[in-house]
Amino acid sequence: VTGPLPATPLIGIVADDLTGACDVAAAATDAGLHTVVSLGPPSETPLADCVVVALKSRTAAPDVAVRQSVESGRWLLEHGTALLYQKYCSTFDSTDRGNIGPVAEALSSLVSDGIGGRGRPLSIGTPATPENGRTQYLGHLFVGDRLLSESPLRDHPLTPMRDPDLVRVLSRQSTRPVGLVPHATIRSGTDAIRAAMRELADADLGHVLVDALDDDDLDRVAAALLADGAPPALAGGGAGLAGALARRLAGSRSADRGTGGIAPVVPPGPRLLLSGSASARTREQVAAFPGHVRILDPLRLADGSDSAESVLAELADRSATAPDEGVLISATADPDQVRAVQAELGTATAAELVERELGRIAVGAVDDLGIRRLLVAGGETSGAVAEALGVRSLYVGKSAAPGVPWTVAEHRDGRPGAEPIALLLKSGNFGGPDLFSTAWEVAP
Ligand code: ADP
Repeated sequence: VTGPLPATPLIGIVADDLTGACDVAAAATDAGLHTVVSLGPPSETPLADCVVVALKSRTAAPDVAVRQSVESGRWLLEHGTALLYQKYCSTFDSTDRGNIGPVAEALSSLVSDGIGGRGRPLSIGTPATPENGRTQYLGHLFVGDRLLSESPLRDHPLTPMRDPDLVRVLSRQSTRPVGLVPHATIRSGTDAIRAAMRELADADLGHVLVDALDDDDLDRVAAALLADGAPPALAGGGAGLAGALARRLAGSRSADRGTGGIAPVVPPGPRLLLSGSASARTREQVAAFPGHVRILDPLRLADGSDSAESVLAELADRSATAPDEGVLISATADPDQVRAVQAELGTATAAELVERELGRIAVGAVDDLGIRRLLVAGGETSGAVAEALGVRSLYVGKSAAPGVPWTVAEHRDGRPGAEPIALLLKSGNFGGPDLFSTAWEVAP
């Protein structure tokens, strides 16, 4: 079933991971834009008000991240996208090599080429997402009441963030100079912000970071970015600024415009929860889950005494006796247990084992057991499960928690006749402690 198709996306977003793509898609949907997420550069993704391309580029080699981002950005611009947005993490997760700076430079070049070479490539944005406690003041990023460098992100295993000054952080990743529109200007209003952006563009800066402490600040920044006379630029940042831009675009959308395809109906069927996240919040959610929990132990997967087949056989038995019960398959463990497993198997091997088996369980559950609604916890885990299921694009629906929208997958590679399934893909630290029970209240 499809409704009237829009002529072109109002905003096209290139996101550096899948759960981050769902996060920004939820912000666009909440603003009233029909939104689809494409896993990887789109091929036949239906157009919508907002098209988000989900990549796996946050910690990829910079040249790979740039190549995938350019391919995605070019597709979006060629399909008439009015505004291009680079989505990265609200905690600016990156290394000194990238990939926020290199991707911003490549995508802003696409934007400036697209407008016939008027002006030099320029990116403007902020990771600030006040709804999630991320604010930026004088270029410094805060996570709740702590500087980024004093938050748990300082010890992130892949992208440790130990410098809170984003002008400095982005400068290390960029070939062009980085400027700042400080909070005093943001508070002065749209005209002042636009004038400051112009001045920095005329001074030939490559990147401009803007301060923001609340959604009103972001709304003013969005108004300035979309105003006549603003310097043409790639917009970028967290879900916060994307949401503000989406609110503004939804408000000015012409009434006769189509908005996008309508999400297909998900047939009735049992539910399943899969967790491969070791984050603190997920551990709380697993502990609070009232239903049956089936533990997946990486050491038993490694020695062959457990497997996806065993889990699926148990699920089949259970669904015969208790068809409506939600079951949680969980590899989630305490940091000590995870460290012990990693010491024995190696970090990468342990991760791959868990991701592969959870992916195989998802495929067996959907194809053979009739599971139609799946909740997946963990960013990498979500990517692995979606890939195993052959999911190519997702319609975005109601949010179960801030940044955690229900989605409907229609296209599944190699399974052309496959029925639609509902997926809730949750990054480790998202959602309240009772999400695993409450999420189903708004499921498609
Ligand atoms: P989060 O979003 O919380 O960071 P991810 O899924 O991105 O979650 O990352 C968690 C990683 O840890 C995955 O690669 C997963 O396979 C791995 N993992 C999960 N459980 C265990 C475990 N018990 N021991 C070792 N590694 C694990």
